[in-house]
Amino acid sequence: MKNVRIDDIGASTKHFNQWGKKRFSFKGLTYFYFPWANYFFLKRHWPFKGWAKYDELTADEWQKYLKIFEEHKIKPIVAVTASWVDEKSNLIPFPKKFPEEASVLKKAAGEKKIIIANHGLTHCVVGRHLPYLRHSNRKMHREFWPDLPNELHRNHIVESQRMLEEYFETPITILVPPGNVWGEKTYEALRDTNIKTVMANRYMLDSNKPMVGIEFVKDDNFFACHDRDFKLKGAKWLYKKIKELQNE
Ligand SMILES: [Zn+2]
Repeated sequence: MKNVRIDDIGASTKHFNQWGKKRFSFKGLTYFYFPWANYFFLKRHWPFKGWAKYDELTADEWQKYLKIFEEHKIKPIVAVTASWVDEKSNLIPFPKKFPEEASVLKKAAGEKKIIIANHGLTHCVVGRHLPYLRHSNRKMHREFWPDLPNELHRNHIVESQRMLEEYFETPITILVPPGNVWGEKTYEALRDTNIKTVMANRYMLDSNKPMVGIEFVKDDNFFACHDRDFKLKGAKWLYKKIKELQNE
């Protein structure tokens, strides 16, 4: 059975990545097109809401889901963003912003029930992450764009590794680049860390160069989902998904 990977834990992208769905299609045919879907509040509401806003999973919700995983002998990879970026571009460390949730995950990781992965320091381009009045800000909710400076890649990788390893008291060996966006500068930054695997649905954006000492694992090997799925769809959805995975 494919393993499960859950992204976006601790990322403020769940509040600020606001964009509206303009095109509504069925079997490849557009049946409704609404060019103003990104205007003002529309992008936050059904049926236009493309991503945000939803809340972080609570400690209790995690307990419930961890129990389901345990019952099914699944050891999910939980991809944590090391800090929450607030409205004023402050970076708040995950254990400080969500202490109860963090402690549940730390305990589960200590008991080898989950594997913690690095999902970036910020998940976004800090300072460009707030919702726009009339446009989608989705692009700004990726962290490792190849055209961002070398220093940024390095600092974000080193700092997120430091924070996650310090709190979870274990080497972090997997990077899940936010939004599958990463490049040569990201790879270079990984070389002095404990990262041994990059998981994404595509290889580096700007290079086909093979990596030394780091393995690339494509998303096809996983059932990759987001905390958003758990928050919005709940346990019933998870049971159904697990059943599907078992039957695959
Ligand atoms: Zn993400």
